[in-house]
Amino acid sequence: MSPERRQKIEFAPEMVQAYAATFIPRYDRYPIQKPDGNYLALKRPLHLSIIEGHLKGLVTIGAYALSEQSQASWVCFDADQPDDWQALIGLSQFLDYECVQSYLEQSRPERGGHLWLFLPTPLPGVDARRFGKQLLAGMNLSHIELYPKQDALRTGPGSLVRLPLGIHRLTGRRYPFINADGSLLAPTIREQVAMLADPERMPKDYITEVLNRVPPAEPVFPTRPFRPPPKNRIVGATPSERIKNCISVHDFISQYVELNKNGKGLCPFHDDHVYSFGVNEQGNYWHCFAGCGGGSVIDFWMRWRKLNGQDDSFTATITDLAKMLL
Ligand SMILES: [Zn+2]
Repeated sequence: MSPERRQKIEFAPEMVQAYAATFIPRYDRYPIQKPDGNYLALKRPLHLSIIEGHLKGLVTIGAYALSEQSQASWVCFDADQPDDWQALIGLSQFLDYECVQSYLEQSRPERGGHLWLFLPTPLPGVDARRFGKQLLAGMNLSHIELYPKQDALRTGPGSLVRLPLGIHRLTGRRYPFINADGSLLAPTIREQVAMLADPERMPKDYITEVLNRVPPAEPVFPTRPFRPPPKNRIVGATPSERIKNCISVHDFISQYVELNKNGKGLCPFHDDHVYSFGVNEQGNYWHCFAGCGGGSVIDFWMRWRKLNGQDDSFTATITDLAKMLL
């Protein structure tokens, strides 16, 4: 990027506002980058002056990927290996052939970067992710990181990406948007900000077409056939007590989740790779360390029903369990 001195760059407030509107989904809080490159989540309002400070290189902030209503206005792919970065450049070129504009943002020169796609209207996080995953899968790139990382917010503000065109606190560098051939998207930071303040958004039809390539989520099936517990164990004053008394959490859940001998398994409620899920046999409860909750057979079945798009209210869950177990 041309050597503009930080303090010399001025941005019209309208441009800062439009730039923020491209990337920032919520203004009630924001993440600020620390000198070590990590982020500190600040629970204070994000004012335009802070975004201007970011563009001037005075502070560096992150952009959360989802709004408070779990809506996404963009999808961002993150490559931190040279091979993956080349693949993202390839994906950008492929989209270009399909007449779809995407934006390559360099980070760590020659080694990695982001590919941004701007949605015509905000989409639920789950659909934005489905769209992103499908694009990656079509290029055999499913291992590349995709933002938003959550389908919907459960606790906290979720994943974030460094707001582009600021200064990376760890490297002290500003990374530009580039074209597929490596040339700058625009010659100066001001012109880059202006372009991203009014980015070309993806055609709605294209998103629909890509989403339609993905079948809706398949129902999740038990790991082994369901075996009802012996009838003599059914005791208790209420249906929920009788349900809890008739089968142990371990016996029930092991029919739906592959558990190892320590009672651990892959959590069925999130994209788990590290055996976050476990059943405590002594305590007779289940728990997911990644934040999916825990509790009794009834709590498990509510989550399971929700996962399968069924009514996950307490009443519907109890009725269903009573039919299965009592
Ligand atoms: Zn989980």
